[in-house]
Formats: sequence, structure tokens, C-alpha cells
Amino acid sequence: MPKVEHHRSTEGGWLRAAVLGGNDGIVSTSALVVGIAAANPGTTAILIGGIAGLVAGALSMGVGEYVSVSSERDAQLADLDLERKALKEDPEAELQELTDMYVERGVEPDLARQVAAQLMRHDALGAHMREELGLDPEDLTSPVQAAVASTVSFAAGALPAVIVAALVPAELVVVVVGVATFVLLVVLGALSSYQAGAPMKRGVPRVVIGGLLAMGISAGIGWLLGLAV
Ligand SMILES: [Zn+2]
Repeated sequence: MPKVEHHRSTEGGWLRAAVLGGNDGIVSTSALVVGIAAANPGTTAILIGGIAGLVAGALSMGVGEYVSVSSERDAQLADLDLERKALKEDPEAELQELTDMYVERGVEPDLARQVAAQLMRHDALGAHMREELGLDPEDLTSPVQAAVASTVSFAAGALPAVIVAALVPAELVVVVVGVATFVLLVVLGALSSYQAGAPMKRGVPRVVIGGLLAMGISAGIGWLLGLAV
């Protein structure tokens, strides 16, 4: 049996949304908690800040994803309509269009015309969407699914920093959140490299260094503010 390779980059929008949301939740909430904790305001203030950051971030992430995927989907549906209309009004030109695409890719003209005609008899709209736009009409990205995936994953990513803030003495929050975030980012970096089918040694440092930088800057500013106030 021939071996068929598995392309992970085609595995749908929700996984991408989840990894992105998780990363955002970890980095922004850890940076927020560390920034507040560095100013040394006590456990209650750190905790309120962390929880507010979690809720605000998760909701804004969900809304943002909904809006962006919706407009992407609107554009796809408009393309679908355009194609449907063209197929109805001028099927001969559409057959020629598909034929030309195969010829351009190296298929002999007669065979290209045969392939195009057979594909169009089977599913004309599907054939044109796939070839012209790389879209599967049966499998458009869902805005709600993407929004839920990013909201939930942001909250999940944000939760560890909030839990640490609740359980650890205020003066240890900066250190413990720092270490926990480092570990989480390594795991997430590995996960997102795996999802992309990319090498870990490039993906992991990218995620970890970005996150630590955000936390470090936030802690520094919090510390300065704590001195000033
Ligand atoms: Zn077409």
C-alpha cells in the first residue's frame, strides 16, 4: 500500500485558534500578575488584577476571533455566490476556465478538458472553488467554533497564573509565576510546533523568549511603579 503523508497544516482553524489563544492567555495574564505583584500591593490586589485580566482577555479574544473569522467567511460566501452565478450563466466559459488551469499545470489539452468536464459533472461548484480559491464549500471555517476555541484556551492559559497568585505568598508570586510560565511556554511551543509539523528547536525558543520578554518588561514597570507610588 502506498504511504500517504499526513499534512497537519490543513487541520482546520480551531486548533490554530486554540494554540494562539492559549499562548495569549499565558503570556498576557502572567505578565499582568507579575507586573502587579512586583509593585507589592498584597494578595487581594494581585488576585483581582489576575481574575479581571483573565475575564477581559478571554472575552476580547473570543470577540476578536469571531469578527475576524466572520469577515473571512463573508468573503468566502461571496466568492461562492459569484462562482455559482458564473456556472449558471456561462457553463462553457467555466469549463474552459478549469481546462486552462489543468493545461497550465502540464496536462494535455484534450485530457484536461475531459478531467474538467468529469469533475464538473460530479460537483461543478466544488471543483471550481477548490481549484480557483482553494476552498472546500463543505468545510468553511466556523466563526462560533473559532471564537469558543480561543475564549476557552485563553482562559485555560490564564488560569495557572491566577491560581499561583491565590495560593502563594504575595512576595513569592513573581518567582513562582515566572517559573510556571516558563514551563507552560515550553509545553505550548512544543505543541504548536507539532501542530505545524515544524521542528521544535525553532518553535520552542520563539514562544518562550517572547513570553519571558513580556513578563520581564511588565515586572520591571510594576517594580518601578511600586517604588514611585
Ligand atoms: Zn470558475
